[in-house]
Amino acid sequence: MKKTVLIIGSSLAGIATALRLSKRGYQVTMIEKNGTPGGRLNRISRDGFIFDVGPTFFSMSYEFEELAKDCAIQLPFKYYPVNPLYQVSYGKGGRTYTIHRDICALAKEFSQEEPDFETQMQRYLAKTGKLFHDSLDIVVRQNFSSKLHYLQELSKINKRHLPLLFSSVQQVVNNHFSSDEVRNIISLPAYFLGNTPAKTNGVYSLLSYTEFLHDGYHNVEGGMYQIVQGLMQELKKSGVETIFDTEITGVERIGNKLTALTDQNGKRYVADQFVVNCDSLLFRSRVLQQKKYTEKNLQKYDWSMGMLTIYIGLECKLDHVALHNYYIGHNHQDQIGRQSPDRQIDKPYFYVNVPSLYNPNCAPEGCESLMFVVPVPNLLLKKEWQDQERIVNDVLREFSERIGLDIFPFIRVKEYYTPENWRDLYNLYSGAALGITHSMSQTGAFRPANIDDEYNNLYYTGASTVPGIGLPMAIISSRLTTERVIGEKITAQYD
Ligand SMILES: Cc1cc2nc3c(=O)[nH]c(=O)nc-3n(C[C@H](O)[C@H](O)[C@H](O)COP(=O)(O)OP(=O)(O)OC[C@H]3O[C@@H](n4cnc5c(N)ncnc54)[C@H](O)[C@@H]3O)c2cc1C
Repeated sequence: MKKTVLIIGSSLAGIATALRLSKRGYQVTMIEKNGTPGGRLNRISRDGFIFDVGPTFFSMSYEFEELAKDCAIQLPFKYYPVNPLYQVSYGKGGRTYTIHRDICALAKEFSQEEPDFETQMQRYLAKTGKLFHDSLDIVVRQNFSSKLHYLQELSKINKRHLPLLFSSVQQVVNNHFSSDEVRNIISLPAYFLGNTPAKTNGVYSLLSYTEFLHDGYHNVEGGMYQIVQGLMQELKKSGVETIFDTEITGVERIGNKLTALTDQNGKRYVADQFVVNCDSLLFRSRVLQQKKYTEKNLQKYDWSMGMLTIYIGLECKLDHVALHNYYIGHNHQDQIGRQSPDRQIDKPYFYVNVPSLYNPNCAPEGCESLMFVVPVPNLLLKKEWQDQERIVNDVLREFSERIGLDIFPFIRVKEYYTPENWRDLYNLYSGAALGITHSMSQTGAFRPANIDDEYNNLYYTGASTVPGIGLPMAIISSRLTTERVIGEKITAQYD
């Protein structure tokens, strides 16, 4: 008889785990709180406009290819490299820079601000590239049996990288570049890990290497949700069932074995093994009610900032925008809001994605779909969001000023998610949209493990466990969790 596995949550890591396990002969069922799969990798469709809810690009495409090889399928979506990577508009009335992957072309963009850019950038990328290749297999792509095992593995990494451990991304970048503009732009990827560059550990400067020299960024033909739709088709072919609109709220146990899960209506779901794809800390706290994860203890973790995301359907086309755009102020580090609990969000920096530039299906003819991401305090820091409409309009007003067009008269669709919405939609603790950050005490074996320490048939997958945040990490996470469930190592096949 086939072994049965229940997966709680149907986001990318859950879907990829379901696929890997079903291909290995397990009978898998996914249980999802919402009416659609994908979690944060989701889609909003309104009046002919389509918006990606969260992720708008991915890096490390070879991890998706590895998943396809492991499951003996063709990757069920098409992706293409993004180049230039993005556009950065620097301060009101300031310049707009096109961020090319080609370092020579980029040096021309920065010729006024940083005359020695090319040499400095080559030095910086050589250093971060070495770190990336020295640490990827050791820190990111393997399970650890204990913290000691992790530390032993870390000790294999070249000691020349040690100083990075004791600095921040901002410091590493500052050591290589002298102008504020270049420093701020090159350190932008730190935000992808949920914190400011000044608060993100220096080892994550390796993101610059993945961005510029390594695999770059990729977009998906037809929008990011094609990833979910394509993989869900593959799950169907493998006989994986998904139960929607069902929230797991309780468990049944015998000794240190989970025997069943129960949903909001008391319905029971029985299986041999269980994989949790939703936030592992919140699940341990609220559903398992484990003593180590009381509400008070949860607050001790370093949670990412919140995200205010705004989805705008415009009845006009826009000039001067790229697929990915950053609008930052000269003092943007101070404006992030996470520094102080009661901070007002007066002049935030923000990111704007314009998918309709490349995917005509995302907006009616002559129209544009826009998605804004504004880093804001999470609900631990800013509890009240009655001022949400004002904040949203401030952002739209600032965007109008930056692009030289008042967009308000052209708005046909307007939706937004505050940290309260992110919390309620996907069970994200305190609306911290990226979950726990990647501080050193929340990385590798110090991040919540993908195996439960109380139940011997309960595992975790996704951003809240190892290796961490982002879509390629979700794919790696699915491999590491599958290894736990099947009890053996998978030989990953990369080209
Ligand atoms: C605004 C934003 C932009 C981002 N941009 C990018 C990007 O461009 N590129 C990138 O690589 N990454 C990006 N990320 C990060 C990326 O989205 C996440 O790291 C990744 O999607 C996390 O996936 P996950 O598998 O951990 O599951 P989650 O997305 O956390 O999904 C968990 C699922 O579990 C369900 N669930 C929760 N509780 C229960 C329960 N009790 N019972 C049943 N179901 C439950 C939820 O409804 C959800 O479907 C972004 C994130 C955000 C918020």
